[in-house]
Order: sequence, then structure tokens, then C-alpha cells
Amino acid sequence: MASKRSIMVGNVKVGGGAPISIQSMCNTPTDDVEKTVAQILALEQEGCEIIRVAVPDMKAAEALRSIVDQIHIPLVADIHFDWRLAVRAAECGASKLRVNPGNIGGQQNVRRVVDAARAHGIPIRVGVNAGSLEKELLEKYGPTPEAMVQSALTHLKMLEDCGFYDAAVSLKASTVKTTVDANRLMAKTSDVPLHIGVTEAGTKNMGILKSAVGLGALLMDGVGDTLRVSLTDDPIEEIRAAKNILRAAGIRRDGVEVVSCPTCGRTKINLTAIAQEVERRVASIDVPMTVAVMGCVVNGPGEGKHADVGMAGGVDSAVFFRHGEILRTFHGSTEEIIEEFMTEVHKTADEFRD
Ligand code: SF4
Repeated sequence: MASKRSIMVGNVKVGGGAPISIQSMCNTPTDDVEKTVAQILALEQEGCEIIRVAVPDMKAAEALRSIVDQIHIPLVADIHFDWRLAVRAAECGASKLRVNPGNIGGQQNVRRVVDAARAHGIPIRVGVNAGSLEKELLEKYGPTPEAMVQSALTHLKMLEDCGFYDAAVSLKASTVKTTVDANRLMAKTSDVPLHIGVTEAGTKNMGILKSAVGLGALLMDGVGDTLRVSLTDDPIEEIRAAKNILRAAGIRRDGVEVVSCPTCGRTKINLTAIAQEVERRVASIDVPMTVAVMGCVVNGPGEGKHADVGMAGGVDSAVFFRHGEILRTFHGSTEEIIEEFMTEVHKTADEFRD
């Protein structure tokens, strides 16, 4: 079940039944304001809802002031070890701090960070990574989901000892199973909002698959309030993958879903080219509808009958249908079929809007 507690990251609610928000992290040097702002604006365009930046030094912390002035989504400051950077990031406009209370040199420093977060009304995310667990926990449990959950609870307790409950948690590991088990256990143990993701997932292809399996398993269980797909690639790819994972899980319907058949010996049309082009063209339609691109008239309209509009290929022709009901047959080349079918798709989208 999704966590009941919630936090506000800027104007984005996380947890408490709010829609699952999509995050990414900049890979520009944070103190290069121009580059960082450009990357964040591009990510916003793609659908990023919360952005995180690394704050490795004071120069980066101070750059936040001018970055947040130029962007439109909340910014999370990622800090390790130095409480001063967390305090400065809060002063410079961060909407959330990602900092582990156990790593900043004692309860007195935790209190300083908590005071700054409270003064600026911002939450703190505790980020547990299986690769950097505390020595005592590793000795007791090994690099296990139990150790990760214990680590998160210990960090949270340090915040709670200062009367601070405005927190979220992430539990990330580079193996899918450990990540999933740790998050499931955390969701059973606590109602703190969960940021989910598989860390060090890898390069695009395998990284997306690992993230889809891990995040998919959690999302199907109702676990997770905000997510990041970590890829060794352009962060834009992380946003695209995150949106697609949410769509594939049936959690988001904020655009057109194209369903297409795998093709078989009955296919008499270049369905791959048609499906790819239709998918490219519908990306700009903001209507939650389903479009079917099917290979043959024998099975296409029936198998695609859940679609709001669809086409099934014939010999130099296509049949257009809506919810399985045949509308008409169109004769023409592949390009002409695409053009004509897109007219039908736009017509359907317009009716949805009315
Ligand atoms: S819809 Fe037709 S072409 Fe596509 S897989 Fe089914 S039978 Fe084959």
C-alpha cells in the first residue's frame, strides 16, 4: 500500500495518496548555473516533476539561489557528510534536502540541519544505499534488505529525536531483488513516504529493464510515492523511461497509448514502419486514449477492440475501426495510410476533448 504520510516538495505532494511523481538528477556541475538551468528546463519539458542536484561544496550550495530563480519545479539538494552545506542549501532555496543524519557528525549537527529545514519549511530525504551501509549493520545482517531498513530507521530516529517528522526515505540497491525486498519491508514497517528506484541500474537498455522490473513489482504492490529511473545516460532518458514505466503499470494515463500486434504470416503491410511513425506522431497528443495498429483484418479489429481508434492492414490498404466497429477501408501506400489514419486519430482525440 502507498504510504499514508505525506511531505510537500515545493508544490509537489509526495505520499498520502498523491500521484506518483517523477524525478531525475542533473549531471551538470551544479556551480555551472547556466548549464544546470538549461538541463533542468529541458527535463521539465520532458515531464520531470522534481529535480535533484549534487551539492558537493559551498559554491554549489550558493549556486542554488540563482538556479531556483530560473526553474519551475522543486529542487532537491543532495548532500553528503557536511551539515554546513545542508544549512546553506536550505537558505538558498532548496525544496528538500537529501542528507543522511548518521553521516554528518553527531546529533548536534543533525539539530542544525533540522532547524534549517524547519525554518524553511522543507522536508528531508534519508537515502539508504546498500553499497554504503553502516559497518555495524553489515556485521549484524550483511548487505540485506533488513540491514537497509534498519539503517533507514536509525537515520529517521535521529530526525525524530529532534522532533522532525517531515521526512521521506529511499532504499536503493543495484540488484533488483534487494531493492524490491527492502522497500516492501519498509512499507510494512513504516508509513513514511518512499522514493523508489534501482540504483546503478546501468546503461539505457538494461537499466530500463532493471528499473521496470523493480519499480513495476513495487508499483503493483502499491509501494512507492515518487520515483527515479537511474540510467548511465542523458537524464532526459530517465524521464522518458519513468513515464513509460508508469504508463505500462497502468498508473498514469496522460497521453496516447499505442498498442500494436507482433505481426505474423498474415501481415501484408509494413506494420513496423506504421507503428513506429504513429507512435512518434501521437506523442504530442495529450488525450488519454488507446490507438491500435494491427497487422491484419482477420484478427486486428477484434484483438484491438478495446482501442478508441485502430487500423488493421490489408494488401495496400487498411481498415479503420473504433472499439472494434469497422469505420471504412482506405487504399493507398504506407505513407498515405499513415496520413489518413492520423486524421482518424486526431478526430477521435478531438471528440475526447469535447
Ligand atoms: S493481428 Fe493479424 S497480423 Fe497481427 S499477429 Fe494477430 S493475426 Fe497476426
